[in-house]
Amino acid sequence: MPRIPIPLSEPVDDCNECQAACCRANEIFDLTFQEVAFMTRVGNKLLKVVLPSPKPRRDAPYPRGLEWDTDTGMRTYYVDPERPTEPLSANFGRYVLLNDCKYLETDQDGWEHCGVYEERPGACQQFEEGGDKCHLMQQIQQARAIDEA
Ligand code: SF4
Ligand code: SF4
Repeated sequence: MPRIPIPLSEPVDDCNECQAACCRANEIFDLTFQEVAFMTRVGNKLLKVVLPSPKPRRDAPYPRGLEWDTDTGMRTYYVDPERPTEPLSANFGRYVLLNDCKYLETDQDGWEHCGVYEERPGACQQFEEGGDKCHLMQQIQQARAIDEA
């Protein structure tokens, strides 16, 4: 299980009830170099976990949880001891987004949406609504909101 230090409410399975939790800091992305360029050209900061390789890897590290010290800004990432790795496709690297995505746009009702929906990276297109990672990102978003309150 991801290690998150704060009790959290139940996650939702519907993007229309969620404030784009998967587009925020600490999301894990598998990206090509071209997609890295697309993400960083607007100022997104990506922390490399695994660099792209021409060959696929079955056991590439995959961080699943974090703690951070709001005084020092230090972040510590954790892996699930029972599942510390995930496969990584050829020519893809694995990255942690260190900020809320700069492509997020806020509508007139205050909801945030992807401003480049048709062009978004494959990792964003394939993100499973209601899946384990979706719920994890919502928990991380809640934990951060509580931590920063
Ligand atoms: S996929 Fe999940 S985390 Fe992302 S916006 Fe939808 S409900 Fe929220
Ligand atoms: S590119 Fe769009 S879908 Fe992908 S993280 Fe940024 S705002 Fe979210």
